[in-house]
Amino acid sequence: MHVIVTGGAGYIGTHTCLELLASGHEVTVIDNLSNASQEGLRRVERLTGKSLRFIQADLVDPVATEKVFQECPNATAVIHFAGLKAVGESSEKPLLYYHNNLTGTLNLCQAMQRHGIKNIVFSSSATVYGDPASVPITEDFPLGICTNPYARTKAMIEDILRDLHAADSTWNVILLRYFNPVGAHESGEIGEDPNGIPNNLMPYIAQVAVGRLKQLSVFGNDYPTPDGTGVRDFIHVVDLAKGHLRALEKLEQQPGAIAYNLGTGQGCSVLEIIHAFEKASGKTVKFVIAPRRKGDIACCYADPSRAEKELGWKAERGIEAMCVDTWNWQSKNPKGYGR
Ligand code: NAD
Ligand code: UDP
Repeated sequence: MHVIVTGGAGYIGTHTCLELLASGHEVTVIDNLSNASQEGLRRVERLTGKSLRFIQADLVDPVATEKVFQECPNATAVIHFAGLKAVGESSEKPLLYYHNNLTGTLNLCQAMQRHGIKNIVFSSSATVYGDPASVPITEDFPLGICTNPYARTKAMIEDILRDLHAADSTWNVILLRYFNPVGAHESGEIGEDPNGIPNNLMPYIAQVAVGRLKQLSVFGNDYPTPDGTGVRDFIHVVDLAKGHLRALEKLEQQPGAIAYNLGTGQGCSVLEIIHAFEKASGKTVKFVIAPRRKGDIACCYADPSRAEKELGWKAERGIEAMCVDTWNWQSKNPKGYGR
């Protein structure tokens, strides 16, 4: 299958491109490199011994987006990763986030429509559930109140794609709601390379361990959780990437518009992650307890059984592998791709 991958030069995109190439798919990546470098894709090609097509283009530019589709006449599906994702920045620059994520998606879908490509896998997020009434979270939980513009773009794009299917049932839409993606490919050649100081827990821990940052702030130890710190469903990025391949296979059965949680089903606390990382790296991760971070919830983990039943997908890697692989990537590439 020829798959167009938007945002394919990014963290989850590179890992997914690797799995796509390894499984024999043809891949064209569209990325504006606003949060990535081409180096990750070069390494994907090296690791797989196969090549992909890279087109540097911005989805908010309708002409450039159209041109990509003209160059890919045999493409049959799109995996849509491209988007801005920093929660804090989205509150400071809401127009940037709405424009990039929504206009980009509208331009993409219009080009798909013009070219008769009506199969899309979209990178959604557990953030669409807001603060869930209970855990584990199933896909039919009500969509919650989003606490920031980034989360709202995810909820809005889900609506746009569901509306597309409602208007034209030949559209097939798979919404993958990721929980907390972490880790790196076991080679240590590709991984997460955040711009500036990381917002997320795992890259922050990794940068403390490698000596780039002094200490971690643990945001709150007074949550109603077993050790008082936040609990999340961390999922290895390679498992997540493989979930996209199962979703592409599902699209061939014309499933309509459907959402799947991609998580492990296991909650893990901030302190548990710190300790697992120390064990995996042999380094001490210095931390202090800090106040809660605005907008955070206590506990969030998936019920991933729909994905197992309908996609034949299940996360295989646990916290230990997530920490070992993150450390392997971070210690081999202390400055990431050196962007
Ligand atoms: P990332 O920033 O590494 O990758 C996104 C890629 O999209 C980048 O390479 C960036 O350059 C590109 N991009 C952004 N705007 C673009 C535009 N207008 N045109 C073309 N390219 C553009 O992020 P990631 O962690 O790989 O996340 C991929 C997707 O998954 C995003 O949509 C993100 O919101 C979603 N997601 C991520 C997480 C997470 O924790 N990483 C969790 C849930 C959902
Ligand atoms: N967290 C933390 N310190 C940090 C970053 C995150 O204590 O520097 C906590 C955060 O409060 C939450 C968990 O780690 O409980 C996961 O946060 P992250 O930003 O990685 O993902 P989120 O679940 O918010 O999308």
